[in-house]
Amino acid sequence: MKAFDYICIGGGSGGIASANRAAMHGQKVALIEARHIGGTCVNVGCVPKKAMWFGAQVAEAIHKYAPDYGFDVTLNNFDWKTLVDSREAYIERIHGSYERVFKNNGVEVINGFAKFVDNHTIEVNGELYTAPHITIATGGAPTLPNVPGAEHGIDSDGFFALTEQPKSVAVIGAGYIAVELAGVLHSLGSETHLAVRKHAPLREFDPMLSETLMELMAEDGPTLHTHSVPSQVTKNADDTIKITFENGTSLTVECLIWAIGRAPATDKINLDKTDVQLNERGYIIVDEYQNTTAEGVYAVGDNIGYVELTPVAVKAGRFLSERLFNGQHDAKMDYTLIPTVVFSHPTIGTIGLTEPQAMEEFGKDSVKVYNSTFGAMYTAVTQHRQITRMKLICAGPDQKVVGLHGIGLGMDEILQGFGVAMKMGATKADFDACVAIHPTSAEEFVTLR
Ligand code: FAD
Ligand code: NDP
Repeated sequence: MKAFDYICIGGGSGGIASANRAAMHGQKVALIEARHIGGTCVNVGCVPKKAMWFGAQVAEAIHKYAPDYGFDVTLNNFDWKTLVDSREAYIERIHGSYERVFKNNGVEVINGFAKFVDNHTIEVNGELYTAPHITIATGGAPTLPNVPGAEHGIDSDGFFALTEQPKSVAVIGAGYIAVELAGVLHSLGSETHLAVRKHAPLREFDPMLSETLMELMAEDGPTLHTHSVPSQVTKNADDTIKITFENGTSLTVECLIWAIGRAPATDKINLDKTDVQLNERGYIIVDEYQNTTAEGVYAVGDNIGYVELTPVAVKAGRFLSERLFNGQHDAKMDYTLIPTVVFSHPTIGTIGLTEPQAMEEFGKDSVKVYNSTFGAMYTAVTQHRQITRMKLICAGPDQKVVGLHGIGLGMDEILQGFGVAMKMGATKADFDACVAIHPTSAEEFVTLR
């Protein structure tokens, strides 16, 4: 049995961050990864998604905006495989940089699928490993619905494995992944349908965001099908796929992508041999310090079912190592006011309370909402004008900013700085005290009336 000070199971965002930080504090660390270093984010998540989204931005610039900027563009071809190859080469470089960091920090990487033998013993490929501290950072995986023929579709992992561009696609789902993949496919030229089972995509977001997204999709985006619950999927003789919905409608497409949510990877690691408890949805139960119900066993990232974002897993993993190995006894992740972006077309940025949440928490009379709608200047000088909408939600006598939401070009880059301001407790007066940067979209947030 090989002994370490610290073992992280899962070489994704949370596991890598925690392992490196522990090793930097002098611990003997093992990182166990069953597939690819970098986990979901690097291999089948944020990174390849953003590369495809950038490809879609280039397509939009060429098709929609270039002519009015005076470019007489003749486009001969778009080669999906070239984009995929460029993306994968970039990911290979990221793998290389991870390996260099592990080497420098002295993290030992073990390739294989880890299973618990007991609270402090792990088995990988028949070998046993032990440590007084073990973190479970196994992330999650896409789910498929319980619909006859669902296996004819692919999930987001399958999307990243596509080596040819599908001519027509149906994306089923209403969250981040459905909206992002449908947007990318549409902009790159696939005939794209987005089917949601309720009235709108991104229902949990501020209503202004989902309503504006639908408005913009209607102008130029995937064809949205609301109230569409799939009841059956069949494969036709010509290999096309027919999706029948409960409302009697159907779609026939070359490719079906399920994007209906993810499930935690906690079911195959023999947690029944430990004192680690799961909640009813299979997520690992942790306290605010990432402690599981087993002494010396911790969990971070997507498998705890809090906020499933890379920087959250990273921060939680680092704080954990600071607490365990650097004497920072109170170090813990703050799960409030987390800024997040949906890489839609255009992007959505959001932090804090939605308007309905703010009304409920503070009462209608204590909440003041500021709105702005304008044409993004980049598009305003072309025939393809695109609106931007922004909303600031303030509460209490000092008008503390409790929610900030925007949809429009550049929202992905705008949000981070405003997130800092909100973390510091900024009020509307603080926003107004900052001189606007002109001409930008971001300036709207400091000039709202
Ligand atoms: P993961 O990154 O999933 O890593 C878990 C690792 O554990 C995996 O590599 C897995 O192979 C390994 N593993 C599992 N079980 C075992 C075992 N028993 N033994 C050994 N290894 C094991 N977040 C953002 O912030 N921004 C984005 O733009 C964004 N885009 C996304 C796009 C898509 C399509 C998807 C699917 C997700 C996206 N996310 C994004 C979410 C982000 O990828 C996750 O929140 C993040 O990867 C979670 O990190 P993690 O460490 O919890 O798990
Ligand atoms: P989400 O949980 O965000 O969304 C899935 C949605 O699909 C549900 O909210 C639900 O919406 C709908 N749905 C659920 N079941 C069904 C069903 N059986 N049939 C049809 N629709 C269904 O999951 P995603 O997979 O999109 O993303 C997982 C997480 O990964 C995200 O929550 C996010 O944290 C992270 N992520 C972050 C990104 C970013 O930062 N840009 C990008 C991608 C992922 P409804 O109830 O309205 O029908």
